[in-house]
Amino acid sequence: MSRSSYPLIFERSRPGRTGCDLPPLDVPALEGLIPEGLVARVTLPLPEVAEVDVVRHYTNLSRRNFGVDNGFYPLGSCTMKYNPKLNEEVSALFDGLHPLADDDCAMGAIRLMAELERQLCAITGFDKFTLQPAAGAHGELTGLMLIRAYHDMRQDFNRNVMLVPDSAHGTNPASAVMAGFETRELVSAPDGGIDLEALRAACGPDTAGLMLTNPSTLGLFEKNIVEVAHIVHEAGGLLYYDGANLNAVMGVARPADMGFDVMHINLHKTFSTPHGGGGPGSGPVGVTAELIPYLPYPVVMMGGAGTASLDYDRPLSIGKVKGFYGNFAVMARAYAYILSLGAEGLREASQNAVLNANYVMNALRDVYDVPHERICMHECVLAPTKRMLDNGVHTTDIAKTLIDYGYHPPTIYFPLIVHEAIMIEPTESESRETLDGFIAAMREIARVALEEPGRLHASPATTPVGRPDEVQAARKPVVRFCE
Ligand SMILES: *Cc1c(COP(=O)(O)O)cnc(C)c1O
Repeated sequence: MSRSSYPLIFERSRPGRTGCDLPPLDVPALEGLIPEGLVARVTLPLPEVAEVDVVRHYTNLSRRNFGVDNGFYPLGSCTMKYNPKLNEEVSALFDGLHPLADDDCAMGAIRLMAELERQLCAITGFDKFTLQPAAGAHGELTGLMLIRAYHDMRQDFNRNVMLVPDSAHGTNPASAVMAGFETRELVSAPDGGIDLEALRAACGPDTAGLMLTNPSTLGLFEKNIVEVAHIVHEAGGLLYYDGANLNAVMGVARPADMGFDVMHINLHKTFSTPHGGGGPGSGPVGVTAELIPYLPYPVVMMGGAGTASLDYDRPLSIGKVKGFYGNFAVMARAYAYILSLGAEGLREASQNAVLNANYVMNALRDVYDVPHERICMHECVLAPTKRMLDNGVHTTDIAKTLIDYGYHPPTIYFPLIVHEAIMIEPTESESRETLDGFIAAMREIARVALEEPGRLHASPATTPVGRPDEVQAARKPVVRFCE
């Protein structure tokens, strides 16, 4: 929509026009209660508009947005599954609760946290969770601080190296550095998994631990995980599980059984909270029994007969990592989601997520490059073929063209170890018809890439903003609508 057909709400403003009538004051006005210097005497520059202008303005803005509520959103590594609206109702039940309320008045909320923790323990095999961290990356930092506390408590002060595979999400090395570790990168084996010889060579008396997501960001299950865990433990290190890909294995395999010592879960991904646009999230951290003493305080304790309590007496705790108890509304949604699916439903969700990703990969493998020829888990990684690249068609062009077909682009150029990666995570929410529509669009784009490649450089053509110069957009962002 051009700017002239879509005025700013300020441009719609007409002096004296109003969207609501306030009743006259029916109590005496109190002059002098607020010190004169603090009282605003200027008229605020707010738009003066009728109710219908406001409604149209925001409705039109919302139509420029894209989310799972408008269409297929196969953003790899982000698990953009459908978020049942029931979860919103459940979290809204707690709207009136104040974070400073006495525990006795907040018993339902504390009990919900205790129950959620018990569910997460059952799903992952860990012994205890903290629900405080606000997102996956925050969970990583928390988990790494727990690993540091564990080594320190054993007077093992020289373990400063965190091993991170080259397929890892960027937050892994960043969190390791924030937690005060040095990172050592593990180059992946040709099949995308951990190279056991490289791992053995990298392990030593300075190894604090290994961070791994399984399945990896390539959508591949680390089939040597038991051996990997053995090698790291032998060297005296601990294993951190980045749980962002838990949607592939819920109800099927448990990270604690694979040999991991610490993990985070991205509740907003696996357990459905709307998270496009950056939050709020929740990144609970689970640990084995040895690490429980170091968990952030307060820890939630299950009581009898519908009760639960908060324990602040934690002398070895790493301290608090978040104000109050974490993002409670996200916990409430996860709790509702887990209860509505049940154990069997969660397993089915993972199985369908894996099935959908393999369906997409197999339907596209003859027209795109598949860098790792293996059965994938909940997401698949493709790339443009050499002929497309020779034609000047890059992953960006494919992603931008998908927008014109009505699809949110997949994750692109990640993982970094796949040249021109296109990472597709359909999730379990999508029907066969939706997947077929997406597959048809991808196949059509592949055809155009070979026959009329120039067309793909003009996309997207259907959005308010076309294709910006990405370097300029990053270096000199213009974020104001008007000059
Ligand atoms: C999303 C993601 C993270 C980071 O999680 P946030 O909740 O966005 O902080 C870490 N690792 C992987 C593999 C992810 O996909």
